[in-house]
Amino acid sequence: MIKQKRHGQLIVISGPSGAGKDTIINKVVEDEKNIWISVSATSRQIRPGEKEGVNYFYFSKEEFEEKIKNNYFLEYAKYAENYYGTPKEKIIEKLEKGIDVVLVIEIQGAMKIKELVPEAIFIFIMPPSEKELLKRLKNRKTEDKNKIIERFNIAYKAINEVTKYNYVVVNDKLDEAVEKVKAIIKAEKCRVDRIEEMLVANKEELIHEFLMEEEFDNSTIGEKI
Ligand code: ADP
Ligand code: 5GP
Repeated sequence: MIKQKRHGQLIVISGPSGAGKDTIINKVVEDEKNIWISVSATSRQIRPGEKEGVNYFYFSKEEFEEKIKNNYFLEYAKYAENYYGTPKEKIIEKLEKGIDVVLVIEIQGAMKIKELVPEAIFIFIMPPSEKELLKRLKNRKTEDKNKIIERFNIAYKAINEVTKYNYVVVNDKLDEAVEKVKAIIKAEKCRVDRIEEMLVANKEELIHEFLMEEEFDNSTIGEKI
């Protein structure tokens, strides 16, 4: 009766550094085969343990600026003095194939996506407290003290931007946060604005077929099945 739009959904995830965005989304995609996490480009230094093409595509500042000129990005922004951007081509390809695409990006970039694709889903991941956020940034052991303070300062500003998003998920217990993100994605698929076509069958024909049924026995009404 109802044919839903076949193209994938664009899901944008933001939140303070250390809130748990990557941890959550990696768990969400473990069980959901139809979701693809976009790999961004950055001009920041590669961190120990990171891999080219897996965590990011790493460009020099000059290379990144060249790509901006060539319209390579769907959006890009500067964060903590480095460029970050979403390569465009693969995203369009995945969405057209019906695959959902997740962007884990900071707020300026997310707001550009909101202008370009207002029907995208915007989810903000919030830490349970500022104290816990600082603890997670320290425990992650990916930045030095100065960089942690820089990110913590940006995080304070970021928390005020939550109202620009459709959903907020507090990442206290990891499993619960993962379930909430999965539930949001599922619910969004049922939105009426995802209906592409409504095919209404011929009522008279259905009633006529029913009247012609011989095996339906009126005398059995009220009998337990
Ligand atoms: P983000 O992607 O938002 O910067 P990460 O996913 O890298 O954050 O998580 C930051 C740190 O916090 C990581 O060391 C991660 O293992 C840890 N972490 C994530 N979620 C939780 C949670 N619910 N409880 C405790 N630690 C968490
Ligand atoms: P990190 O240096 O910790 O990997 O990322 C720093 C911030 O940049 C995070 O908030 C991350 O979500 C954001 N980010 C990563 N990729 C992109 C991107 O393609 N575009 C934008 N605007 N932000 C990004």
